[in-house]
Parts: sequence; structure tokens; C-alpha cells
Amino acid sequence: MKTALTLLALAFSSTYITSALAEPLPITKQQAPGYYRLMLGDWQITAVSDGTVVVPLDNLLTNISPQKLKQRMAHDEMTSAAETSVNTFVINTGKQVILVDTGAGPLFGEAGGHLLDNLRAAGFAPESIDLVLLTHIHGDHSGGVEHNGKPAFPNATVRVEQKDVDWWLNPANINKVEESQRHTFAESEQSMRPVINVGKLETFHAPTEIIPGITAIPAAGHTPGSVIYRVSHGGQTMMLWGDIIHAKAVQMPEPDVAIHFDVDQKQAIATRKRVLQQIVQQGDWVAAAHIAFPGFGHVKKEGAGYRWVPVNYSAKADK
Ligand SMILES: [Zn+2]
Repeated sequence: MKTALTLLALAFSSTYITSALAEPLPITKQQAPGYYRLMLGDWQITAVSDGTVVVPLDNLLTNISPQKLKQRMAHDEMTSAAETSVNTFVINTGKQVILVDTGAGPLFGEAGGHLLDNLRAAGFAPESIDLVLLTHIHGDHSGGVEHNGKPAFPNATVRVEQKDVDWWLNPANINKVEESQRHTFAESEQSMRPVINVGKLETFHAPTEIIPGITAIPAAGHTPGSVIYRVSHGGQTMMLWGDIIHAKAVQMPEPDVAIHFDVDQKQAIATRKRVLQQIVQQGDWVAAAHIAFPGFGHVKKEGAGYRWVPVNYSAKADK
């Protein structure tokens, strides 16, 4: 009995000494590596994060009053300074590894450019990417196609709609966009030129089949050559959106709300409405560039607008 008590006392005292001497645990700000997988038939789709960027929606959204904007954001427990995901997607067909969009590369500072690290964490070395598909040319989608002045994915062919190349790589168009968007021309040069210089850029005219099971569908408005990639395998379909939605809390319930990033706001609104209507009818998966990571989900009709249903987390990457 005495021994037991002594042991107990010793146990207590050593616990006390240990905790008193231990350094306080630092608060780490590192999240888990940004990737999330799901299966589409036998193809694996991996969402890979490039980071998050704070978008001042009060300066950028159009067709909405400041009051209504505040209200919509508050409904999602957010403010109009919206921390917005920049998501990319890897399709592994078992034969080919295809990356859809490339994040911001160096263009957003610390907010973006995390794609290469997250790809590696997910098991994809830059050399393993066979094909890069861009939804459109814009800093947060095409910025990461180059790294230190060279193609970031040395073995990949890069494919994009011809109309976006014609638009963003021709300085004659600079006065056709809002002043706040003119930086995109220099950024497009910086990002795309290294790929063009090694002969790895291949344009297409949408609609077109990229490979069996992947089709590029026109979604013009946001940019002239914006496309959606329709990916189908084993009877399942996923639509990989670029900038159909920038602010889910606002544009799902009110698809008429546009953004100054749109080259043609009116056309972008019409495209958004058509795409939302179709996705509800078809019930397909969506992979969205700017809906909270991983950006996988479905769309439901709600009232006069729509509602986003995010993927239910699964610890199993085989379904
Ligand atoms: Zn974007």
C-alpha cells in the first residue's frame, strides 16, 4: 500500500515537473497539404490548392447594392473581403495525368503559387504532368504555367482556346478592357511566352473533344475564350468550371451579379445562367476554381436562384 502511494506521488510529481518545464506548444499556421481526391468512374480527380486570395467584393461585384452584398455575405458568415480559394484539378486516367489550370504562380505573392508543393504532396512531380488544360488565360489560372521563366511542367503540352490567345497576347486589345484589368496583358506574356517559346502551346476551337472523355465547352463572357471541361468516365460526369462563380454566397442565389474581371459582363451573366440551369438538370458533379476548397460539389435550384452543396468529406479516396 505504502509503495503504491509512493508510486502515485512520484507519478504526480513527475507529471508536474514535466509540464512545468515543457515549452508551450507553438501555434502552427500550416494547414494539411491542399489536396483532396475522388473517383469519377475509374478516373481519379484530385483537387489541388494553389492558395487563397482575399477578393474585395465590394469594389469588384456589379449589379448588387452594397447593402445587399453585405447581407448575402453575412448569410455565409463572411464579409465582402472574401478569402477565396484558387483550386486546380488533376485528372489521372491511368494512362495520362492531366492538370486543369495552374494557379497564380508568382503573380499573387504568398497568397498563391502553392500548387507545385501541393502537387508534390499529392504524388505528382511537375514532370509527371502530360497535359495542361487552361479554362482561360487569367493570372490565377495561367500564372503557374511558368516557373522561373521556364515551363513549370516540362513534359506537358498546354492547351487553351484560340480566342483567349488572340485576345490576351495581342497588345492591340489593351484599350478594350477596363483599366483595372489591363495588367492581364503583361501577365499573360510573362506566363504563356515560355510555353510558346518551346513550342508546347496548342490552341483549340471549342466545342471540341480533347481526348475521349474530356470535352471543352465554350463559356465565353468572363474572357472571350473561357471554356468548361466536361469530364466523363464510367457513367459519371464532372464539369470543371473556371470562373463561372467568383463569390458563391452571392452569385448562386443571384446569378445576375457580375464582376469587373469579366471582359464582357453581359455575356458572362448569360453564360452563368445557362451553365447553372444545365447543371441542375443534369445533376453532374462540379469542380469549381473559386468555391471553397476542394471546390467539389453539386448545384440545386433554390427559390429564384441556386444553392451549392459541397462534397461530403470522405476519408476514402476510392469512391
Ligand atoms: Zn479566376
